[in-house]
Amino acid sequence: MATQPSKSPKILNFSPVRPALRTALPGPNARRILADDARLISPSYTRPYPLVAQRGRGIFLEDVDGNLFFDFAAGIAVCSTGHCHPEVVAAMQAQAAELIHISGTDFYYPQLTELAARLSQIAPMPGPHRVHYCNSGSEAIEAAIKLARYHTKRPSILAFYGGFHGRTMGALSLTCSKAQQRRRFAPLMPGVVHAPFPNLYHRPAGTEPEQYAHDTARFIEDQIFRTELPPEECAAIVVEAFQGEGGYLPAPSAFLQELRHICDRHGILLIVDEVQSGMGRTGKWWAIEHSGVAPDMIAIAKGVASGLPLGVLLTRAYIMDWVPGSHASTFGGNPVAIAAAMATIAILEREGLTNAHEVGEHILARTYDWPQRLPLVGDVRGRGLMIGIEFVADKHTKTPATEQRDHIVEAAFEKGVLFLGCGASSLRLCPPLIVTKAQADVALDILEECIQLVASGKHKRPNWKDKAAS
Ligand code: PMP
Repeated sequence: MATQPSKSPKILNFSPVRPALRTALPGPNARRILADDARLISPSYTRPYPLVAQRGRGIFLEDVDGNLFFDFAAGIAVCSTGHCHPEVVAAMQAQAAELIHISGTDFYYPQLTELAARLSQIAPMPGPHRVHYCNSGSEAIEAAIKLARYHTKRPSILAFYGGFHGRTMGALSLTCSKAQQRRRFAPLMPGVVHAPFPNLYHRPAGTEPEQYAHDTARFIEDQIFRTELPPEECAAIVVEAFQGEGGYLPAPSAFLQELRHICDRHGILLIVDEVQSGMGRTGKWWAIEHSGVAPDMIAIAKGVASGLPLGVLLTRAYIMDWVPGSHASTFGGNPVAIAAAMATIAILEREGLTNAHEVGEHILARTYDWPQRLPLVGDVRGRGLMIGIEFVADKHTKTPATEQRDHIVEAAFEKGVLFLGCGASSLRLCPPLIVTKAQADVALDILEECIQLVASGKHKRPNWKDKAAS
């Protein structure tokens, strides 16, 4: 029989040192909701395991049956300050009591300029800057595509294999991560060309990382611009400074630096998608800062407002030369979302960036020998709290161990830690930026245990579909 929904806000009052599960998963309340979800909600969502959330605090998440999880996925790298940070909640509550909406498309309000000025201070390129507000990562990319065409009067965009930029039609045209994301949606936006993205782990044997990264960028000028895309028709190169969905792959500095040179030579705009890698996740405000490259535009979303929907396109001011009516969004730059963003930036500046760097170093130091020591682990890479672990069936051929990766993520859920996969066979560590070393140790112990369990063949893959229906 189903129990009552969990009402006791357990996690408000204490910080568990470990995940604490009190029911089998999914629990009885979760099962009811899963059954409704299966009937009512779009089946296009990709749920890796049946977590039904009730409330969150910091890195803790409580489900509808009172089970306590460690959240190392942070709502897909969104809850940068942790769940329901008291300062973020207070800022949102105060703003909600004052003004919830008026629309920056038609009217003025001070929050628009306050956040723009704040973002300008931390932008990865010299000012002056301008800001366009929207509601998501995809919309920030849509705005970038439109502005690049508008400003340069050129039609084409160059993006990269493995890149993920969103699922709206324009953004999807740039996305080139998994064929399923594009299947049966053609024709997509014309004028998009994809180039290889350097994957250091899979680089050809005998090549040096830096030379390989540089040569991968050179392919654009030496091949693509000579054979397929005349450079004077290319409005922009759009790149993730750290590929997210594609497998948690940092773009090597030599690659980004060469992209900048190519853009400068041909009057092309360099657009960096920091939707996932930004807002301090890599230990600096922006992942591109690690390379010293200054982009022309930057797309921001996810972690910027700790979970409220907000997207931002920030550009060098002279580029944003479109005229009234060219582009706008009813909800973009909503005052409550901006209040959350202002509080988020204050918290990240005070503690988040340093903590992301320090705990990230700690995780990397603990996991550096996993490829030698643990079965299935081929590679560990990353910066700050954006760390990818790639699983391979064979460490010489580096064949992706996709099923084993999925199994490891599921086993970790059963032990109370939330992870997400990415790429063909990688797992991402992207906890809130306020996570402690002790919490990271607990999560890594559990992850290591799950890797051993799955590799040994002793753990049976759960079949939640049956349980949800029962
Ligand atoms: N760009 C990147 C790098 C992303 O990771 C994502 C989302 N995973 C997007 C764009 C799209 O963002 P949204 O889902 O908010 O539209």
